[in-house]
Amino acid sequence: MPLSLDTKIEQLTRVGRATAARIAKLGVHTVADLLRHYPFRYDDFGQLLPIAKLAPGTTATVRGRIELIENRRSPRRRLMLTEAVIADASGSIQAVWFNQPYLTRVFHPGDEVFVAGSVSYEFHQLQFVNPSLELCQEFTLHTARLVPIYPATERITQRQIRFLVRQALAAVDFFADPLPPAVRQKYNFSTLAWAIRQIHFPERPATLARAWERLKFDELFLLQLAVQLARQNLAALPAHPIPFQPEMSQRFVKALGFQLTDDQRKAAWRILQDIGKGAPMNRLLEGEVGSGKTVVVAMAALNTASAGFQTVVMAPTEILAEQHFKTFARLFSGWPVAVALLTRSRRAVQPRQAAEPEKRPISKRALLSLVQRGEVDLVVGTHALLQESVRFKDLALAVVDEQHRFGVEQRQRLKSVADKVLPHFLSLTATPIPRTLALMLYGDLAISAIRQLPRERKPITTRLVTPLGRARLYQFIREQISVGRQAFVICPLIDPSDRLGVRAATDEGEKLQREVFPALNVGVLHGKLSADKKAAVMAAFTSGAVHILVSTTVVEVGVDIPNASTIVIEGAERFGLSQLHQLRGRVGRSGHQSYCFLCTDAETGDAYERLSAFLQARDGFEIAELDLRYRGPGQILGSVQSGFAQLKLASFSDLALAQNARHDAAQLLSDDPKLTHYPMLAVIAKQFGSDSHLE
Ligand code: ADP
Ligand code: MG
Repeated sequence: MPLSLDTKIEQLTRVGRATAARIAKLGVHTVADLLRHYPFRYDDFGQLLPIAKLAPGTTATVRGRIELIENRRSPRRRLMLTEAVIADASGSIQAVWFNQPYLTRVFHPGDEVFVAGSVSYEFHQLQFVNPSLELCQEFTLHTARLVPIYPATERITQRQIRFLVRQALAAVDFFADPLPPAVRQKYNFSTLAWAIRQIHFPERPATLARAWERLKFDELFLLQLAVQLARQNLAALPAHPIPFQPEMSQRFVKALGFQLTDDQRKAAWRILQDIGKGAPMNRLLEGEVGSGKTVVVAMAALNTASAGFQTVVMAPTEILAEQHFKTFARLFSGWPVAVALLTRSRRAVQPRQAAEPEKRPISKRALLSLVQRGEVDLVVGTHALLQESVRFKDLALAVVDEQHRFGVEQRQRLKSVADKVLPHFLSLTATPIPRTLALMLYGDLAISAIRQLPRERKPITTRLVTPLGRARLYQFIREQISVGRQAFVICPLIDPSDRLGVRAATDEGEKLQREVFPALNVGVLHGKLSADKKAAVMAAFTSGAVHILVSTTVVEVGVDIPNASTIVIEGAERFGLSQLHQLRGRVGRSGHQSYCFLCTDAETGDAYERLSAFLQARDGFEIAELDLRYRGPGQILGSVQSGFAQLKLASFSDLALAQNARHDAAQLLSDDPKLTHYPMLAVIAKQFGSDSHLE
């Protein structure tokens, strides 16, 4: 049967059910999947040398005849050894393998073979240890070339994958080339089929590089098309125009008791302009922790309410949702804006014109009904809000706090919640994204940045603490607490199995309570606690009953305890700099001088250098650039990048390539907005968009 791209893996030669099931774990089910299962590196066995030219440390392939090959049990360690002697015209060399007894069944004395690997010097002679071995043939898979190394899984060998890929290549010409011919010509790119052949079994490094370039470009181009198409579709939808009421907005600002910073003013102005239009706003508001994004949101919500529409604000955790609710309740007391809190475990409402901030408990049903009747103007909840059965009367503004991956589905969901008309959309983040990356990720999503902090804030004194400095650190914390302050201690994940960092925080909390601060109260907060327990711990910390809060990063962002003046971050080298910066933002929220201590075992090396650079950086924007430099863009964006599972080869560090892709995608769409001339491309791009999480 001839192969097609849809041929199932189990129909390939030498694949049984069991093997197919194991390969399926790699997400590989069909020939097409296999061809798109790219190597992540190569062994360079391309150098073919006579045996006499080998030296210790050489990596090469030799071509020779097997003089001898046999298995023997190692007496010392209970290993099965396979030993062989390979000879060519220039000499002979020993090869040894551990626990691969099947080799003697496949290879026999007299066979002409390629042997590839690194040569070592043992017991006064040169030998290959665990080299690759392959019968001489025209097209080699495992030796005498750049040999591909694939992501694999248990009980699937590299040899098996290569053997299967080689078969699958018979179908490679069936792939439709997504690039429009003009784009391909512009960069003198190869065909798709050639590039895929090369990426699996490259002829030489230069052809591999060309293949990479082409395939990376494909991914970035498709991503850009998908981003731009999504935006184009969004912009074509209707939204409720919210008229800007300058006089009321000014009165609101006056009542705040502080002056807006210029950046806050500018951001608010842009947002109010945007939502005044009949097309949905799609804006990202970046601003350091404590830069005052909330009042900007409040101004938009106030105008929205006064136009008779509703706003929803979604936070990443229940704790933050509750804090937002309190803040909005305070800001809107005395205003005709009813504010509600709706999370899995908590519901409250503050009616319009409440004289004092209040938190009236209410049943879920009653609250849902108020929202549906339009008697609540602002609903605060978690990101899960959209999954619940909330119906709005007239939702016009959706605000998402700290969620990078607010995807297309949620957007769709918002649409259905809002009944046809798309709400204006505002995404808040305290992790600034370098401009170039932002453009790539969000297309020309509008971005506002609040760079200035409110004036009176003091910089947070930040220090590295090595193991020797601990005693002094703990003494310092005791002193801070004795003058009435409080402290955070943040623990990283210790190992991946402890996903929520529960163990680290629990252990550390117990140790600090027992050994270091027996006279003080230490509380522990982590994501596995029930909502009630979390709220109880937070309440105890807020009231001052708990002096030191040991917590995981699950409760990472925004928690507002102005009395906390010290934050200790354990295992600081495990965090990205932007994340450290966010964590640090938990202190310094009042007039007290605040301190951040980064505890690390690293006293030299990369980690140390990175942390030292952090100490010098002035603001979150600079820190984001440092992260880009030290850890690469994937790390900064963390889940953002990994949300783009479609980017197998390209990463956001391929900036130049990405900019070209962006430009070409825009050009193509301006000539042919619906891709009518490229129906195939339209389908692929759409798929790409829905598989990715486009903001
Ligand atoms: P974030 O951007 O982290 O969400 P918030 O909106 O929570 O920051 O603001 C942090 C604190 O700063 C709040 O207590 C807020 O009232 C206060 N604040 C906001 N803007 C200003 C300002 N322009 N001047 C002084 N304080 C401000
Ligand atoms: Mg905030």
